[in-house]
Amino acid sequence: MEPATIVLFGATGDLAKRKIYPALYNMFLDGKLPQPFSLFGLGRREWTDESFQANIEKSIKQFSRRAPVDPESIKSFISAFRYRVLDVGCEEDYRKLLEQVEKREMELGIPQNRLFYLSVGPELFETIALQILGSGLGTVKGWKRLVIEKPFGHDLDSARLLNQTLSQAFTEQEIYRIDHYLGKPIVQRLESLQQAHPVFHDLWMDRKIANVQITANESVGVEERAGYYDRAGAIKDMFQNHMLQLLMMTAVYIPKESTSGKGSSKKTKVMEALKPLQKETVRNHVVRGQYSEGSIKGNAVAGYKAEPGIAPESMNDTFIAARLQIDNDDWQGVPFYIRTGKRLKEKSTRIVVEFQDAMEPASQESLAPNLLVFELSPEETITLQLHSSKPGRSETFQPIELDLGTNPMNSPEAYENLIWDALRGDPTFFAHWNEVELSWLWVTPILEAFAENKVPLLPYEAGSYGPAEADALLEADGFHWWFDDKQHLTSDRKGRTSYAYHTND
Ligand code: NAP
Repeated sequence: MEPATIVLFGATGDLAKRKIYPALYNMFLDGKLPQPFSLFGLGRREWTDESFQANIEKSIKQFSRRAPVDPESIKSFISAFRYRVLDVGCEEDYRKLLEQVEKREMELGIPQNRLFYLSVGPELFETIALQILGSGLGTVKGWKRLVIEKPFGHDLDSARLLNQTLSQAFTEQEIYRIDHYLGKPIVQRLESLQQAHPVFHDLWMDRKIANVQITANESVGVEERAGYYDRAGAIKDMFQNHMLQLLMMTAVYIPKESTSGKGSSKKTKVMEALKPLQKETVRNHVVRGQYSEGSIKGNAVAGYKAEPGIAPESMNDTFIAARLQIDNDDWQGVPFYIRTGKRLKEKSTRIVVEFQDAMEPASQESLAPNLLVFELSPEETITLQLHSSKPGRSETFQPIELDLGTNPMNSPEAYENLIWDALRGDPTFFAHWNEVELSWLWVTPILEAFAENKVPLLPYEAGSYGPAEADALLEADGFHWWFDDKQHLTSDRKGRTSYAYHTND
């Protein structure tokens, strides 16, 4: 990895505190930072280098996955950090920043490799990109890269406009759009699992899959993000980006030695093959809901409309479930079901691949299907649930579970993987423009149908698994969501409690 300077916009913000500094610290301990390394933190607050470094130390002590924090290593780590006051609209601030970055590069004897990280609200993205261009900060003898947080636009037109503006300052190869789900180790292993295991390769390629289910349930409500969330809803906050990226990652077969181009073009092909919905018939494929009051883990919680900052007449969606179809040779006839929402019974993110049953229908009654399960949170595990005959009773089957790997405790978090990739110039696990554009294009009829109230907004009780209509989406095809506690495994194992196992040690 070549020496480089990170220029961090939003250095005083919440994301930097919770995710970026702890990630950089752990990368430092793992020898994954450039040597030498330099970071300029920017914000309007009148901080000094010293107060900035003290804040970083505090955030690491609070949020680092490694504890306790070693005083010597942290001292050495924070010495690379400098703080500058900068208002994103002020040209003069950029001119001064350029002088200081150049001076520091000279002092350290490092090339002009600059990674601009935009950890600020999306309304500032365009201004910053144009100021980087205009000030000369982006005119480098080495490389320059832009790391940008979500959301990338709020609809197709705004995303296109944003991209046009960013392209004035950065090429597509220089833009790293963060979708932190793509930084999760299990998501990154989807690729190697398909390649390394002939069993999975064949299962994937020979279309032995009955359906795929992708769930991202949250038990939290809108928290402090009411203003943003009430405009975005589950569809823009989760579905258009994270959920469709997980679908792409599940549906592609990324070739070994994947370069970004190959991985991205495979993902793009998945999005291109996603059967478009028509506004008039969206309601046949999509369920939208909004939570009403209820209880989670024994605690009473308010309904969405009673949350602070939410209008009592809000028609915003806090839940979405959809049936999607990928119209290509690999996935013809295999439905993908996606659901995500807030104030659901439990926090869980998982991908379940349900395989077709090889048994005769008459013998299926007592069987649970073969399932490949990727748990992304709260634990990170991969398991395969297979039929096996019961010992001594060869005509009777029961499911057995094979643990295919667990992400060990204290392994790198998503932000560590992603920042490391950006510093190394590997864009594989980022959202590329054509994927983002196609995702917005695909959800547009849904957004229009929602805006015109063509899809009913169904209330669901906080602490449930969402509206019953989300179950009906699958039941119409003869399936059901796996691992909700209301489900019906027809074996000795009944649902998630007995299914859950802990291999984190
Ligand atoms: P935040 O706590 O509100 O921080 C915003 C930052 O922007 C602060 O450092 C603030 O610094 C700076 N800022 C605001 N206006 C500025 C201006 N005119 N000039 C210079 N700096 C300015 O927000 P956050 O929670 O850290 O979120 C940052 C970004 O990450 C957002 O785009 C958010 O959507 C995204 N995000 C993504 C995820 C994810 O899942 N990947 C999660 C959380 C957040 P001063 O106050 O010092 O000016």
